[in-house]
Amino acid sequence: MNFKVQNNIALAPLSTFQIGGVVREYIQVESPEGLVEIVEWANEENKPFRVFAGGSNVVFPDEGVQDLVVQVKGGKYAGNMRELVVDAGVDLVQVVSYSIGQGWKGLESLSGIPGTVGGAIVGNAGAYGHSISEVVEKVEVLDGDKRCFINKEECSFSYRESVFKQKSYLILRVVLKFELGNREELEKTSKEIIKKREVKYHPGIKCPGSFFKNIIASDLNEEQLRNIEKNKIVYGKIPAGYLLEEVGVKGMRVGGIEIADYHGNLFINKGNGTASQVKKLAAILKDKVREKFGIELEEEIRYF
Ligand SMILES: Cc1cc2nc3c(=O)[nH]c(=O)nc-3n(C[C@H](O)[C@H](O)[C@H](O)COP(=O)(O)OP(=O)(O)OC[C@H]3O[C@@H](n4cnc5c(N)ncnc54)[C@H](O)[C@@H]3O)c2cc1C
Repeated sequence: MNFKVQNNIALAPLSTFQIGGVVREYIQVESPEGLVEIVEWANEENKPFRVFAGGSNVVFPDEGVQDLVVQVKGGKYAGNMRELVVDAGVDLVQVVSYSIGQGWKGLESLSGIPGTVGGAIVGNAGAYGHSISEVVEKVEVLDGDKRCFINKEECSFSYRESVFKQKSYLILRVVLKFELGNREELEKTSKEIIKKREVKYHPGIKCPGSFFKNIIASDLNEEQLRNIEKNKIVYGKIPAGYLLEEVGVKGMRVGGIEIADYHGNLFINKGNGTASQVKKLAAILKDKVREKFGIELEEEIRYF
């Protein structure tokens, strides 16, 4: 066995939201081969398991987790001829900065998004009108006990969605393909985006990023659209933050969880927040938006 099982590990420090109880058995793994070995072992031992990565988009349960939890974090990447082969656990920030350094265009708009490449693939992470799917060539997965590649079409990417939210594939490695860009321009774009992001995400903030997904304008009917100010539609989407601010949620609080007083779609753990408080507050916010706009908000975060 090339891995170490740790017992009774607190989950809260492993997520950016800093919420969650204790996991009975925990393993951290870097390499895809290591992950395959753990899965084979867990299957042999009849141990149910769950996987997470950077912990920047998950809300762990207050009662902790009885199943084995595997954190896929770390690993290697190698680039050649505008193609990058990346282990799932590599930090997205590292890959963004490597590609920019090579003068490869495609990920610069994702500058500053925390978490791993694997996590980004699951949620088709993105920002400022772009998403990681634009540079995905193929993804190596573990499907049960079968290791295989699935191509971009099979990933079924759409706004914050992918096949990985529907099927229990484990992402092992990702192959990304870039356009040739201008290094100075890419660096400039990246710096500007990081500056904009710092306005929303203050240093040390305990949050999981945007809580709810934005609404795709073309999914709404005429009556729903009538109540939306047209200039609020950005990149074809109605920001959930706009809807939430219209129903006056800024600064609302349940226990230790507060909605930022400067952004309606930002749940902040003020120190002792719990997952049950998060769920309670989310339900109140959904009710308010449904009542005023007839629109159903959907979580971008994932309850683990
Ligand atoms: C301050 C802040 C800002 C953010 N800004 C953005 C933003 O601008 N745009 C955006 O899209 N997101 C944003 N996010 C959310 C988050 O960073 C992304 O969703 C990120 O891609 C999640 O990656 P992760 O490694 O942390 O995944 P985790 O949170 O660890 O996991 C997310 C999901 O992926 C699954 N998963 C992870 N790795 C694997 C794997 N190898 N195989 C199978 N399943 C796996 C987990 O089971 C879980 O369901 C932000 C978060 C924070 C805290």
